Amino acid sequence: MAPVEGQYLDNIDPSTGETYGRIPRSQQSDVNLAVSAAKDAFPAWSSLSIQERSLWLMKISDAIHDKLDVLALAESKDNGKPLKLATAVDIPRARDNFKFYATAILHDSYDVHDMGSSGFNYTLRQPIGVAGCISPWNLPLYLFSWKIAPALAAGNTVVAKPSEVTPATAYLLCEILDEIHFPKGVLNIVHGLGSEVGAAIVAHEDTNIISFTGGTQTGKAISSVAAPMFKKISLELGGKNANVIFDDCDFEDAVNTSVRSAFANQGQICLCGSRIYIQQGIYDKFKTAFLERVAGLTIADPLLEESRMGAIVSRDHMNKVLSYIELAKEEGGKLLIGGQQVKLEGRCANGYFIAPTVFENLSSTCRTNQEEIFGPVVTLTPFETEKEALELANSTPYGLAATIWTSDLKTAHRMAGQLHAGIIWVNCWLLRDLRTPFGGMKQSGVGREGGFEALRFFTEPKNICIKI
Ligand code: NAD
Repeated sequence: MAPVEGQYLDNIDPSTGETYGRIPRSQQSDVNLAVSAAKDAFPAWSSLSIQERSLWLMKISDAIHDKLDVLALAESKDNGKPLKLATAVDIPRARDNFKFYATAILHDSYDVHDMGSSGFNYTLRQPIGVAGCISPWNLPLYLFSWKIAPALAAGNTVVAKPSEVTPATAYLLCEILDEIHFPKGVLNIVHGLGSEVGAAIVAHEDTNIISFTGGTQTGKAISSVAAPMFKKISLELGGKNANVIFDDCDFEDAVNTSVRSAFANQGQICLCGSRIYIQQGIYDKFKTAFLERVAGLTIADPLLEESRMGAIVSRDHMNKVLSYIELAKEEGGKLLIGGQQVKLEGRCANGYFIAPTVFENLSSTCRTNQEEIFGPVVTLTPFETEKEALELANSTPYGLAATIWTSDLKTAHRMAGQLHAGIIWVNCWLLRDLRTPFGGMKQSGVGREGGFEALRFFTEPKNICIKI
């Protein structure tokens, strides 16, 4: 549907710097229409049987599967990420999110609390109404579906906003909804700016529940509007994740996975490890091997098979990342590799590419090590003891994820128990089980997504007490 006020925004391919499309610059009036459609659709959608809702979500999942190549290409073009990554990770995971929640609701159950001869309680979990789902640009369809799927599965209707920076796959999802004749009004996707459409969704009196993924500052702004309205809110925010690497780790695995966790998606994954702490005994060896692998990362046109580092998502974001590289130098950081914009030849000559960048010699308290850069910039820091590693890892206001590399289970358990992060990976990174809770503590967020946690979030528990 065209935006009510007829305004549009340019959509830019970050690998070429060229505008290749337009998206609606929707406004409050469009959000009002979407919320009203969602409200009207709620009674019918929430009264469908679980099996019927499950079938609808499976249809979406199957359609994503059938269009995997088209969606992956669109994601790569829109975001700048290597096509290979979008094909192997983003789109399959979006498909699997719908499939997971289509089947999860078939196996969900309610609590019963038995009071013996006096009676018993059972707890219903009922859909809430219209859910507002707002997502960022780094894993566009993947994170969009991570909200939409459980919201719909739980019986809510949805008004969703993708990032204005990467709207393409959300648009293609609308085409899929039309093709499978998905019931009108159940899932309404509104494009536009965060300060206009996003803010209007959050402030609308009929969006009873808000699920947001994005930056910490935006999360604060959303909370300040939604909390006084007593909306249910889930916030998945920024991160500044630590990789803690002990002397006794599986060296090759630790190096290779740290390179991946530092630079996958150009370092633009909230779970990327950007502070790498290495125990003194292997620091030099690790640094040498790490830099060798980083030097081997191919920065290239995201559409090429060999591309391992694609484009940064936008010119603004590229400039922000470059400014952090300058800051790291000003703070006394020793640049070990990278540190500059990369100019490619041919089709991508005007694209937004940055070389993978590694610094050492920076204190844990400096801004480079405290603030989320969200790009291909990491720091290496040595530590002596487990206690020191823990203090360093816990020294930021964020608490999203951490990795621990050791062959000693006791060290792993001790560290895992004390790290301030919602997701801890031991000897791995990004190993995903859809049933587990996902989210961060401190300034990385409030609430958890994933598994049955998300179904709990998108429902209202109602206890019914029966006297015998
Ligand atoms: P952002 O906060 O700028 O935008 C996220 C979304 O919110 C976009 O759709 C945007 O249009 C919208 N928005 C902006 N202002 C708004 C407002 N006032 N009201 C409502 N909506 C508004 O974030 P971004 O730059 O798109 O994404 C990068 C950030 O997302 C990073 O900080 C990253 O760590 C975080 N992130 C977190 C997770 C997680 O699971 N914790 C996952 C991915 C990304």
